[in-house]
Amino acid sequence: MTTNFDLLCSRLENERKRLIKQLEQLRASVRLAEDTQDGGPFGRSKEEAIEAAEFEMRLVSEKRIRDLLVEVEHALHKFEEGTYGLCDVCGKPIDPARLEALPQASLCVSCKAHPEPAEETYREHNKKR
Ligand SMILES: [Zn+2]
Repeated sequence: MTTNFDLLCSRLENERKRLIKQLEQLRASVRLAEDTQDGGPFGRSKEEAIEAAEFEMRLVSEKRIRDLLVEVEHALHKFEEGTYGLCDVCGKPIDPARLEALPQASLCVSCKAHPEPAEETYREHNKKR
């Protein structure tokens, strides 16, 4: 085993902090936009169109960050459980190269390629052990 799990764990911790910070920044910019809207009623339509587009972009990136955060927190949880590096579906070790590239990976390559609805069942089973 050449994979340094401690290093991956600290990378995940850093990633989690970074994602939370990004979410905070997104929320702060939403608040800023709301404050701006209280301003004068002049030349609003063009601004509103731009704001709407920016708002949509923020929603998209917020969702992406949230999804990523869920994955990272799930991986950190697996560290606590001692199941980190094992596939959520089949329970086999995930290719270390894959973990190096994507520390929050929770599925092995073959399960990722063929998602099984049994994933949740395996997790439940895993919890009870
Ligand atoms: Zn698998």
